[in-house]
Amino acid sequence: MKRLFVLSMAAVVLSVAGSSLLWAQTAVPEQTVKGPDERFKTDILVVVAHPDDEGGVTPYLARAIYDEHKRVAVVFATRGGSGGNDYSREHGPALADIREQEARTACAKLRITNVWFLEGKDTASQNVLNSLANWSHGANLEALVRIVRLTRPEVIITWLPGVFIGENHGDHQAAGVLATEAFDLAGQETAFPAQVAGATKRLEVYLENLMPWQPKKLYYFSDADDQKQFDGAGPAYSVKEVSPSQKKPYWRLALDAATPHLTQFPEDIHRMTAMSDEQIMKFMEDPRHMWWSEPMTMIFGKASMQSKATDDVFADLNSSVSPSPALISPIEPSGRTWMEIGGPWFYYDRFRQLHHLGQAKGSATPEIAIKAGTSLLIPLMVFHKDNGPTDVEIAVTAPAGWKVKAGEGKFRLPEENRTALLVEVAPPELSKEELKKNAAQEVVVQGVAAGKSIGEVRLRVQLKASALAQ
Ligand SMILES: [Zn+2]
Repeated sequence: MKRLFVLSMAAVVLSVAGSSLLWAQTAVPEQTVKGPDERFKTDILVVVAHPDDEGGVTPYLARAIYDEHKRVAVVFATRGGSGGNDYSREHGPALADIREQEARTACAKLRITNVWFLEGKDTASQNVLNSLANWSHGANLEALVRIVRLTRPEVIITWLPGVFIGENHGDHQAAGVLATEAFDLAGQETAFPAQVAGATKRLEVYLENLMPWQPKKLYYFSDADDQKQFDGAGPAYSVKEVSPSQKKPYWRLALDAATPHLTQFPEDIHRMTAMSDEQIMKFMEDPRHMWWSEPMTMIFGKASMQSKATDDVFADLNSSVSPSPALISPIEPSGRTWMEIGGPWFYYDRFRQLHHLGQAKGSATPEIAIKAGTSLLIPLMVFHKDNGPTDVEIAVTAPAGWKVKAGEGKFRLPEENRTALLVEVAPPELSKEELKKNAAQEVVVQGVAAGKSIGEVRLRVQLKASALAQ
C-alpha cells in the first residue's frame, strides 16, 4: 500500500518536473574513478643498457628538460655489475649496487627521478643475440612494456639496434631491440594482457589495471664510430648551444650529469672537476676531448602518426595516432637457392622489416670491428629447397695477409629449407703503428650451387687494438 503510494507520488513528480529532478532526488552522489598515477607520466622514456649509457643522449635531454620543460624517465636494462671498477675495490654484485646508485645520482643531476632497472645482465660481446639470450628476453620485454604503460611516454629514445664499426656493444643493441618491441607492443590489447586487465578486488595481486599505451615516436642514438653516416636520418641538435635557462652549453650540463659515474672513468672526472669553467671550456674546444658529436642526430625510427624524419622530436604530436601496424614476418620466397649474410645482420634485416623501421637503416655494407689477433666470423644463411640435399660451394676472397681458417669448400646441406654456415678468417698480425693507420677492408664470400651463383656476401672489417668479442 505504502509502496504504491510512493510509486504514484514519483509519477506525479516525473510528470510535473521532468526526469532530471527525479534523478537528482534519488541518485547516489557521484563517485570519482581513480585515474593513472600522474607522478609517472613522462614525455620522454630513455631506454639504455648500462649505467652511464644515458650519457649518450644527455645533451639533448638537458635541452628537453631545462628549456622545453619535458618530463623524462630512464630505464636501465642492466645494473652494470661486470666490467672493471676503476675507482674502488668492489666488484660483481657489489659493483652493480654501486653502479645503480651512480646512475640514479647522475639522472638526478638532470632532475630525472623516475629511474627503473630491468634484470638484464652485462654481456661483453658485440653480438646482440648473446645479450638477448643472457637477458631473459621475454621476461624483460614484459617488464619494459609495463613501464611504457605506466609512464605513458610520448617519445621513446634508445640505442640503435644494428651492427656498426664502433663500440657496437651487444647490450646497447639489445636495449634498442627491447625498446622497439615495447613501442610496438605496449599499445596492443593482447600483448601481456594481465597488465591491462582491470583489478577485480581491492587486494588484487595479479591484474594490473594499466591501459594499453601507444607511444608516438621512436628515436635512436648510436655508438658507431662514424656518426656522420646518420646525418639527415633525424633532427639534429647542437650540443654547443647555450641553454637559455641555465646559461651553460648543453654539453656542459651533460658533463656535469656524468660526474657521478666514478667507477667508470674516475680519471676524466677528476681531471675535469678540478678545472675552472674557463679551463674546461678551452679543453673541450678540442674535438678529441669532446664526448659528443656536434650536432647530435636523433635517428628517426618510426612514428604512430604522420611525421617527417627530420621534424623536431616533439613536432606533429597532436596528429591522430594509430596503433603500430601489425607485425608480419617477412615471408621468404621458396623454390630457389640463395645465400645472404647470417647472424646479427640477418636478424636485423628481418627486424627492420617486421617493425617497419624505414629510416633507421643499417650500414651501407655489413661491417664490424674486431680485436687484432682474433678471427673474423662471417655467418651465412643459405636458403634452398627442402626436398633432397643441396650441394653448395663456398669461396672466400680476403685481403692480402688474411687466411681462411674454416668454412670454405663444398658442402652438402641437409633436407631443410635454410641452413646456417660459418666462415672463419684470421687477420694478419699488425704492429701498434700499423693498427693506427689501418683502414677497414672487405672480405667477400661467394656461393655457388649447380654451377650458378647463389649470392655474394661482403663484410667490411676494421682491425682495432681493442674491441669486444664478436
Ligand atoms: Zn654501455
